[in-house]
Amino acid sequence: MARPQRSPVKVDAIHIAEWPEQGLKEISFCEQVLRCAGAQHAQTRRLTGIRRTLVNRRGVVILVGAGIMNLINAHYLAAGGYSVQVHDAGPDPRSTQDWTKLGTTHGGGDARMFTRTEADNYNEQGNQIYPSMDTIFRRTPSGMVVPGFQRGYIRNQPASWAALGNFMQVSPHLFQQVGLHQGITRMYVERDDLEASIKLNTGLGTMLETCELQEFLKVHPTFGSAAATDQLAGGFTIAGFTLNVHKFVAKLIDDIRAKGAEFHWNHPISNIRRDTLGRVLGLESREGKLLEADHYVVSPGVLGNKLLEGTVSGSVIQGVLSVWLQIPNLEPKLSSSIKLHQRGHVVEDINITVATDPHTGEDILVFGGGYGFVGLDRPAADKPELQLLFSELETVARTYFPQGYDLAKQNDSLWTGGKQKFCIRPFTPTGLGVFETVPTISGGRFIITGGNNTGGFFHHDVTL
Ligand SMILES: Cc1cc2nc3c(=O)[nH]c(=O)nc-3n(C[C@H](O)[C@H](O)[C@H](O)COP(=O)(O)OP(=O)(O)OC[C@H]3O[C@@H](n4cnc5c(N)ncnc54)[C@H](O)[C@@H]3O)c2cc1C
Repeated sequence: MARPQRSPVKVDAIHIAEWPEQGLKEISFCEQVLRCAGAQHAQTRRLTGIRRTLVNRRGVVILVGAGIMNLINAHYLAAGGYSVQVHDAGPDPRSTQDWTKLGTTHGGGDARMFTRTEADNYNEQGNQIYPSMDTIFRRTPSGMVVPGFQRGYIRNQPASWAALGNFMQVSPHLFQQVGLHQGITRMYVERDDLEASIKLNTGLGTMLETCELQEFLKVHPTFGSAAATDQLAGGFTIAGFTLNVHKFVAKLIDDIRAKGAEFHWNHPISNIRRDTLGRVLGLESREGKLLEADHYVVSPGVLGNKLLEGTVSGSVIQGVLSVWLQIPNLEPKLSSSIKLHQRGHVVEDINITVATDPHTGEDILVFGGGYGFVGLDRPAADKPELQLLFSELETVARTYFPQGYDLAKQNDSLWTGGKQKFCIRPFTPTGLGVFETVPTISGGRFIITGGNNTGGFFHHDVTL
């Protein structure tokens, strides 16, 4: 297969993430570092009080957004004795058939992967159809200071990973019958990407098993033809897991409700009401009603920019386009999920998740991938970029799972429920989640979080 050429990465100046409507702006590296350091200093001072404040002051917490991010927060807050109210603009996902009305977590494919490197910004350098990816989604230069409102994420990532293990132990019922599969196989087309990733995962302590290609193929004979045609340099196994995310969040919602929380579906929050000093007075519902609480946790995903206007996080979370495809998991069945990296392709990273078809109960592999920057746009289903992403996923399925792909084509079952599903996932320019706190009039906390992969798993212990 011909591989697209990559453009050289620009290093002399940095395009910072001013979003398209504001225009791209070039500033010097030094200036950017100084700006970030200032923001970080201010934010760190605010962050130090969070845990003490929330733990010492039980009370009412209003959460805006019921995607995986805030559901995990809600779970912990409800378990911690807070009186929890969740407001979501969309319908109850457990009873909604129309996926287009749902957020990123509940729409799309019923599969998600959780690894320590899941927050990679998947910057598609040199992407021909999304040229703005090069400048808007850039890799954070090594050693550079991360903006303060993202710092809480980085600071707590290892701790959050540990907390996740604890979560599974303390609440095992949430992880039962949700298609949980432990261990992820990472596969690489390019040898140097393989070696770099082995180094990274060894350093992170997430490496479980690595071996030479010939050994790898003995365990995974399915990929023999891909290796023979130079489409596979090798692979290894890391710590991580996948699950049927729709089943998981349905359980989570039931569990949070059982802990006394209230859910308000089809209930958009339209505004953050603040006093002249910027302190939060409450949240305004669409009807103009003021909702007041001791604390607030706002995680509205990619649709929240209007609500977040006037905060540091406003317009920082924007969308990248991703698509889904599925094929049957044929014998010899994959028992753990795969993350495939193919440098320079339209879809560079593809998650291939071992799952169960929610409609037929059949064992399937769910392909999810695509990191096309769309800003605040919602592409039409027939948009050429979208079709290119679907076609790229088909190529990957055909290359690595030829029999499963042929059968899915034959049965016309490539698309979940017969629909070419796509989602706009929330992302930030660095790929790191946001974590902003705003003072409230009552002395409680107003927290804005979200904006990246890894659902809520990496944020909840910062929020608490
Ligand atoms: C193809 C694809 C594959 C993916 N694979 C993975 C993966 O393997 N691993 C991984 O970690 N992540 C993956 N992701 C990303 C992951 O799904 C998202 O990061 C995650 O679901 C985002 O959750 P969220 O809670 O931030 O946002 P959402 O799920 O979008 O939730 C936000 C909620 O806020 C509500 N809302 C918005 N505005 C308002 C308002 N004003 N008032 C009230 N409610 C409001 C919305 O209705 C929505 O329900 C994938 C995404 C896609 C598309």
